Amino acid sequence: MAGILYLCATPIGNLNDMSQRIIDTLRDVDLIAAEDTRNSIKLLNHFNIDTPMTSYHEYNKVDKAKTLIGKLKEGINIALITDAGTPAISDPGEVLVRMCMDEGITVTSLPGPCALITALTLSGLPTRRFCFEAFLPSEKKERKRILEELKNESRTIILYEAPHHLKGTLKELFDTLSDRKITLCRELTKKFESIMPTTISGAMSYYEENDPRGEYVLVIEGKSFKEQDEEKQSGFAEISIEDHMKMYEEKGIERKEAMKLVAKDRGVSKRDIYNALL
Ligand code: SAM
Repeated sequence: MAGILYLCATPIGNLNDMSQRIIDTLRDVDLIAAEDTRNSIKLLNHFNIDTPMTSYHEYNKVDKAKTLIGKLKEGINIALITDAGTPAISDPGEVLVRMCMDEGITVTSLPGPCALITALTLSGLPTRRFCFEAFLPSEKKERKRILEELKNESRTIILYEAPHHLKGTLKELFDTLSDRKITLCRELTKKFESIMPTTISGAMSYYEENDPRGEYVLVIEGKSFKEQDEEKQSGFAEISIEDHMKMYEEKGIERKEAMKLVAKDRGVSKRDIYNALL
């Protein structure tokens, strides 16, 4: 019988966040695949876990996945851990999970700490609808494309960021999204945890005086529907009602329906459009 791949979430700063189920699983499996074995050995020693380890990091994720799948097929049970948090969230793991699924290997996840969820719950911003962008891409063109996409995002936006890139990223966010609410969640679950609800410009001023330190999650307010409607309306205000009607009628939309759409676009009543066209 094939083995099982266990995704085991590990603490993002506070060792007490390690669940008993995960400790037991790490002791019981035959092998632990870790992002950085030198880093994970400290965690395993702390919990007296002496299961053999092998590395599974970003640079060997496809080749090593094949090796691990070979072992799983032989009946070996494997746990995957990363440096911190939930494996496969902005960590190696996604590829291994997909490849295991393609090979019919059972994968299960033992939930636990995850920086993005911890930050979202502490942000004070809407939590019902959110999007996670992890780290913005470092490649310039791709980064610009993602930022442009985020401009009209109405859900709460969550980003991961390293301290040495924080100031630059805040400036880019300000230039693209303009000023908005943002909560900077720093060193979550650690001794110097700090949660700073502010605005993008407020954060920029703060970091002119203070050096960014530690690990950050940025939680940013999405664009409000009101703002989106106003922008759309101001765009339409620049064309005449006749041209606006033509825009729809040329698409084959009936006059009555076109009047309805024009009224909606301009934030006025259908009667206003009717009267203006008389
Ligand atoms: N898999 C992890 C998780 O479940 O959140 C994320 C790993 S990702 C490589 C590392 C990034 O997560 C950091 O650069 C930082 O943005 C964020 N992060 C991890 N731990 C954090 C903490 N304690 N406080 C704030 N951000 C943290």
